[in-house]
Amino acid sequence: MPQTTTKPDPTPSNAQKAVVIGAGIVGVNVALALQDKGYDVTILDRGEPGMGASFGNAGGLAVTECAPIAMPGTLMNVPGWLMDPLGPLSVRWGYLPKMLPWLLRFVAASSKSRVEQIATELAAILNRAWDDYDHVIATAGLGDAVSKKEGAMAVYRSEASRRDDDYNIDLRRRNGVSLRDLTRDEVRDLEPDLADIFSCGVMEEDWGRVMDPYKIVMGIYKCFLDRGGKFQTAEVTDFVYRDGKPRAAMTTSGDQITFDQVVVACGAWSKTLAKRLGSNALLDTERGYNTTVPYHDAKLSRMVICADDSFVLTPLEMGIRVGGAVELGGLTAAPNYKRAKALFAKGREVLPKLKSEGGTEWMGFRPSMPNSKPVISKSPVHQNVFFAFGHGHLGLTMAATTGRLISDLVTGSETPINMTPYRINRF
Ligand SMILES: Cc1cc2nc3c(=O)[nH]c(=O)nc-3n(C[C@H](O)[C@H](O)[C@H](O)COP(=O)(O)OP(=O)(O)OC[C@H]3O[C@@H](n4cnc5c(N)ncnc54)[C@H](O)[C@@H]3O)c2cc1C
Repeated sequence: MPQTTTKPDPTPSNAQKAVVIGAGIVGVNVALALQDKGYDVTILDRGEPGMGASFGNAGGLAVTECAPIAMPGTLMNVPGWLMDPLGPLSVRWGYLPKMLPWLLRFVAASSKSRVEQIATELAAILNRAWDDYDHVIATAGLGDAVSKKEGAMAVYRSEASRRDDDYNIDLRRRNGVSLRDLTRDEVRDLEPDLADIFSCGVMEEDWGRVMDPYKIVMGIYKCFLDRGGKFQTAEVTDFVYRDGKPRAAMTTSGDQITFDQVVVACGAWSKTLAKRLGSNALLDTERGYNTTVPYHDAKLSRMVICADDSFVLTPLEMGIRVGGAVELGGLTAAPNYKRAKALFAKGREVLPKLKSEGGTEWMGFRPSMPNSKPVISKSPVHQNVFFAFGHGHLGLTMAATTGRLISDLVTGSETPINMTPYRINRF
């Protein structure tokens, strides 16, 4: 059946003018949600929509992932990871001093008491992600582009490595996540093309997947345009203030784009603009890599999470995407595609039918906060300024909920969850 999009009433000419800076998955969701509330919305991006981190991510609607990245014991693993130059974590040593404040907060966030609290706060967003996506998917007519709640299968090479994840699994179960243990035979029956190297698995029941992350951004963006939204190519560098209030975005081409409200949704690049608006954000980037290859004759029915080596395989519309890993190296260093190749080699151990012919490598900048919680926040300084960034490994998953929550903050409506944990001035 052809998908249709629903159109809102035309924007009234006296509507408040909102500018959203950044046309990634977060920005387009924020823009659509504000449009729903009757705002006259313009998205600004320095490039084409959807070409940032949202372009090539793994496509997981990972609603089960409320455990933060900094966990008790994470630090113990760091030396081992760093010994392997192509392991799951790498560091550009020259960048490390610049990252020190972030790293210190990361360490602080890994204590058990903090992790317990953070998991609950992430779950508050993730547990409503499907409801908010359902609304966006229906509005934009994207039903065929998303596979809902099909589950993702985490696999373990040994019972011992599964036991290493006991705390992580228990933490998530206690936050309402449905996780089902799988035997070796069940793993094999569910994904027969996987190598017979796994002792057991865990089915992450409510996990979903998009068929192409870029097409999701573009589908929502197109719906936004169809409903009267505007887009302008513009790199924002600063703001024009009147009576102490930011009133226009200044761009590299010298334009001043006026607004009543502004939302900064520039992913990993949001820090500078937040600062120009009077707020310091402890934002940095975890760079990630992947390779996407045509299926050839490999088959995969769902996402597979290789728990021992921290990477995932996703069946997408255009092929199988193999990737993950974290590289701490800032926003300007050139990609090191040896990392994508190393992940792909590991992927072939797991799915031997994978072939590299026709593959495409990609690197993206996750916008990461040290405690894994996004910034979804009103500015503490200016009434008409809002922030939506820092979604780390879960920006695709949390984007629809972020849009909904930001639109509540902008309109001053009651939010369905307590927003204190996601405020920009939390550190
Ligand atoms: C390898 C990898 C795998 C991932 N897998 C998943 C996954 O399976 N599930 C999941 O939920 N998440 C995943 N993520 C994370 C997810 O991709 C990100 O969290 C998400 O895409 C961030 O979206 P965003 O809109 O905030 O940023 P982006 O998509 O990066 O968009 C930011 C936009 O802001 C624009 N911009 C920046 N500065 C300016 C400026 N000054 N003026 C104008 N425009 C500007 C940029 O051009 C860009 O278009 C993954 C990430 C990586 C790297």
